[in-house]
Amino acid sequence: MTKPKADWRNPGPAPTGGPLIDTFGRVGGDLRISVIDKCNLRCTYCMPAEGLPWLEKEELLTVDEIDRLARLFHSLGVRDFKITGGEPTVRRELPEIVARVCALEGVDVSITTNGLLLDRLARPLREAGLRRITVSCDSLMRHRYAEMTRRDAFDKVTAGLEAAREAGFDPIKINCVVIRGSNEDEAVDFARLAREGGYDVRFIEYMPLDAERTWEREKVVPAAETLAAVSAAYDLAPVVQDAPQPATSFRFADGAPGVLGFIPSVTKPFCDSCNRMRTTAEGAFRVCLFALEETDLRTALRSGADDAELERLVREALWHKWPGHKINHPDFVRPDRSMSMIGG
Ligand code: SAM
Ligand code: SF4
Repeated sequence: MTKPKADWRNPGPAPTGGPLIDTFGRVGGDLRISVIDKCNLRCTYCMPAEGLPWLEKEELLTVDEIDRLARLFHSLGVRDFKITGGEPTVRRELPEIVARVCALEGVDVSITTNGLLLDRLARPLREAGLRRITVSCDSLMRHRYAEMTRRDAFDKVTAGLEAAREAGFDPIKINCVVIRGSNEDEAVDFARLAREGGYDVRFIEYMPLDAERTWEREKVVPAAETLAAVSAAYDLAPVVQDAPQPATSFRFADGAPGVLGFIPSVTKPFCDSCNRMRTTAEGAFRVCLFALEETDLRTALRSGADDAELERLVREALWHKWPGHKINHPDFVRPDRSMSMIGG
């Protein structure tokens, strides 16, 4: 991280022009837009079995409001957009939202989904302009998938992956949260799936963002351990990255298709180079996954704020971004929101 230009706790007014930066010189270039808080799964590491108190329809940002924010961030230099949730595919207007974001010039747009509804949505999403997709799947065993998600829906995920391929998505990424005592013995099976299916599998460390607050450090499988397990089975060649990335990526040394990414969010945080920002389904702007404060953009949107005012709110919030999360510090405080209410 570069030397801060100001004390992030008391930084004075944010710059009024130029790149969207914080006091450490990190440029906000990636916006994750949550389009809904609801979900059709109940992954144990994310949501309680009974779900969460869902937002009322009028609390959700409308399609026009999401569009307006996407345009605003685009005008401020953001080119990477991710549509997420909750489960984005349960929002009826998803294809329209995707079409609007994809219509912005020079953008790279992707979606993160549990894949259950892709059999009918893959094609409309592709037609809306989406090319990249990430499907979350934490086990390749049907019974274990059902245990981890509390729904017997593994067949729907495999059908969704197939539909994504048929619709022409490329790349197709698979997110796998690795949890000790749960699925850590499947790393090599996921690597084989990457080879055989040409997928980009990303192994993610379990983060303290589960709604039930049962996360414990002992359940975190370090990305280095997952990498060692896969490396014992396959020769891997590092993918050269021109800029720092959250994932350390590898290809198979024998030239087989597929990519493997290892994301050490807990054991080796990438806060120093983090360029991610988030808007929640109800329009709260968050400059860190673990932020304890957020900026209410919906109230501003609905009380007639012009773009200059929205820009000021966004710049001020980012200007106050802290150096990084404190999972590994004794004074770590979890945010009130859990993963599905933030937008992963
Ligand atoms: N419902 C969609 C899905 O599951 O892909 C999108 C939203 S979900 C919150 C986004 C990503 O966050 C998923 O890949 C999920 O596995 C991941 N995730 C959820 N809770 C997590 C946790 N406690 N630690 C690490 N990753 C988590
Ligand atoms: Fe739903 Fe995604 Fe959370 Fe699983 S990880 S409960 S699919 S929002």
